[in-house]
Amino acid sequence: HFNFCAGPAALPEPVLARARDELLDYRGHGLSVMEMSHRSPEFVAIAERAERDLRELLAVPDDYRVLFTQGGASLQFAAVPYNLLGRGGRANFLHTGIWGKKAMAEARHLFGEAPVAASSEAGGFAAVPRPADIALTEDAAYLHYTANETIGGLEFDYIPEAVRPDGTEVPLVCDLSSSILSEPLDVSRFGVIYAGAQKNIGPAGLTVVIVREDLLDRACAEMPSLLGYRALAEGASMVNTPATYGWYLAGLVFEWLKEDIGGLAAMEAINRRKADKLYAAIDASELYSNPIAPANRSRMNVPFVLADDRLDATFLAEAEAAGLLNLKGHRSVGGMRASLYNAVPEAAVDALVDFMGDFERRKG
Ligand code: PLP
Repeated sequence: HFNFCAGPAALPEPVLARARDELLDYRGHGLSVMEMSHRSPEFVAIAERAERDLRELLAVPDDYRVLFTQGGASLQFAAVPYNLLGRGGRANFLHTGIWGKKAMAEARHLFGEAPVAASSEAGGFAAVPRPADIALTEDAAYLHYTANETIGGLEFDYIPEAVRPDGTEVPLVCDLSSSILSEPLDVSRFGVIYAGAQKNIGPAGLTVVIVREDLLDRACAEMPSLLGYRALAEGASMVNTPATYGWYLAGLVFEWLKEDIGGLAAMEAINRRKADKLYAAIDASELYSNPIAPANRSRMNVPFVLADDRLDATFLAEAEAAGLLNLKGHRSVGGMRASLYNAVPEAAVDALVDFMGDFERRKG
């Protein structure tokens, strides 16, 4: 079977096999990682190794802290403004789809205003704003954007500049939930990066935050203490009981990326091949279509519709019978979506393309 779920998503098979082998007795310690104290030397070693490997994969500069926290990307929609608006100013947003809109709604819920610095709404979210269209407010405290809109299948093909009209640079904040670790990244361009784990990192329940050290003292005083980046950084992400098992599995995924795949440049090449193959099949067909501007087509999430939506149910039933799982589009947009995260092998895309071609010949 191949799993195209948007999240929680497929995990690499070697990672699952290793987790199975170590489930009852972690490397001769006589207990499961799930049963270990987060303060035990064994777990601390697991946690530190995971952070080291993540830092190595993304080449995270020394003046950034890596946090392993909880609450999903959605809690970061609140944590970011709480941590960055303590000295005043307003959060500015690039609006490119449903997730960015949710982040903006949370900032408005907590702080009243959150101006849109650029939006792709007028074009039906088919392309990201061009750099020249981005206009921050004079009082922008930071600029937030969503690198990859998981539902719309829309991805930035560049890293935006976060500069106020007076020329001062403000921190760039990025929701990287659905594309982190899919390619190399210049972390130094960002103030804060965050991602829910359940796509390219590990199981749901863990959230990774990467924050530049100089941003640790901009927090609002009345923030829930568990959301505070400084406290998490100083407490080695163990302010309370962390998501220990998810952290361990994330570490196995990082090792897989380093050792089995060979790092993020190699991962990027594989991901590029997978996405190109599927979009080429969609573009060559009469039955399937994807509306996104080619430069902004997501490599991770490929939504497509059938020319006749009365075929949707048959398509999904036959796909499932063929072992191609979780192709139903998000409930808000319908149609289909194939998520091609890191753990989805090229063979899965080949099988999907073959199935789609066969289905079109029979029903199209
Ligand atoms: N941001 C993006 C881009 C997502 O794809 C998702 C989830 O699917 C979220 C945020 C919300 O993440 P979580 O469920 O971890 O809160």
